Amino acid sequence: MNSKTYDIAIIGGGIVGCATAMALSALKNIKLILLEAETELAHHQTGNNSGFIHSGLYYKPGSLKAKNCVEGSQALYQFCQEHGVAVEQCGKLVVATDPKEIPLLDELEIKGNANGLQGIKRLVAQELKEYEPHVSGVAGLHIRETGIVDYIGVTNKYAEVVKQRGGEILTGARVIGFQKSGRELVLETTHGTIHIKNLVNCAGLQSDRVAKMCGVEPGLKIIPFRGEYYQLVPEKYHLVKNLIYPVPDPQFPFLGVHYTRMIHGGIEAGPNAVLAFKREGYKKTSFSMRDSAEIFAYPGFWVLAAKHWKMGIGEIYRSLSKAAFVRALQKLIPELEEKDIQTGGAGVRAQALEPNGFLVDDFRIVEAERMVHILNAPSPAATASISIGKIVAGIAAKDFHLN
Ligand SMILES: Cc1cc2nc3c(=O)[nH]c(=O)nc-3n(C[C@H](O)[C@H](O)[C@H](O)COP(=O)(O)OP(=O)(O)OC[C@H]3O[C@@H](n4cnc5c(N)ncnc54)[C@H](O)[C@@H]3O)c2cc1C
Repeated sequence: MNSKTYDIAIIGGGIVGCATAMALSALKNIKLILLEAETELAHHQTGNNSGFIHSGLYYKPGSLKAKNCVEGSQALYQFCQEHGVAVEQCGKLVVATDPKEIPLLDELEIKGNANGLQGIKRLVAQELKEYEPHVSGVAGLHIRETGIVDYIGVTNKYAEVVKQRGGEILTGARVIGFQKSGRELVLETTHGTIHIKNLVNCAGLQSDRVAKMCGVEPGLKIIPFRGEYYQLVPEKYHLVKNLIYPVPDPQFPFLGVHYTRMIHGGIEAGPNAVLAFKREGYKKTSFSMRDSAEIFAYPGFWVLAAKHWKMGIGEIYRSLSKAAFVRALQKLIPELEEKDIQTGGAGVRAQALEPNGFLVDDFRIVEAERMVHILNAPSPAATASISIGKIVAGIAAKDFHLN
């Protein structure tokens, strides 16, 4: 084994990879390197998300999402306060706009309580306006634990901690090849060859491909769903005080278009959830032949499409028609008009889909010889990042005999 051999490499410099590197760097005498394809950290999902610290309201009690969201959000607030990252626990409103949504609101309340949230308050229609004067609805929940944060700032701070503890962060280093050579693993990157003993795959939108490259059959495919945002024009900022959400459709892993006050100012409205024809496709016109061909050749996609084609077409229509997007937003704030919003940015979600058409809901962490692969880390993985990092570091320490 050569002297430059690292004990462990983490592939992917999003928030999950950096949190994992931070947790691993706390182990004694560990030689660690994080490899990121782009020239900066947090370039993909992490840097293009809604900026919420989720509370844990939506997730099935006992799931990895529920446990890690609740623990991770508390750890994240504390981390931000200790390291001077912009954060604010401002609370959010979930609004039922139709009496038919009341049973779903009840379910959310039950789940939130089961997940240990202390700050859930049930509201009747008139009480909604005490929190958000411009909202209209039939009932709601106020969740005290929810907040907003700068996730790019958080990720860079995790990386700083890693470096202070002697870990290395290499950007502009896309992993493009993998080989086993005796007791070593050899990674071919766009920045040269790296020799390691163990690896953790946190490659987000590419995590299934990285697993395959490392000889591990992921048993799922990452399907990219673009989330497009609009921004409120400054004259209309008064319409939204904090965070306003609809009651989500429980059939889908997405939360519905909502209003978000951003930590560095401004108010976003969105995101929708449109099938993207490119994994890192941030524009409506983004297209990759390889990514599209893989989606359409995957049996799971057709099972999903047969079940939810109506919803899919609705999302495409809402992506193309500003009027349709505004109609969705008007359910929450009826006085909003088309001229009150302008086109904003977009993010692409990595959503794992099984061959039987099952959308993987929970986080999925797969162990293999000398490897750990994080194959599904959708929302609230940014909120839960510190907690996920600790779990993965625990698995790695045990499997790789690191301490
Ligand atoms: C629109 C949108 C809104 C969201 N809102 C929220 C929210 O408000 N709150 C919340 O908690 N979560 C939210 N999420 C989810 C959250 O952003 C993700 O769960 C989280 O960012 C996942 O982090 P990650 O590190 O796994 O992925 P990423 O941030 O995508 O990082 C993966 C990294 O791996 C790198 N990579 C890929 N392949 C390779 C390779 N071969 N070699 C080296 N590097 C590679 C990529 O360049 C990338 O930087 C949202 C997501 C989206 C898209």
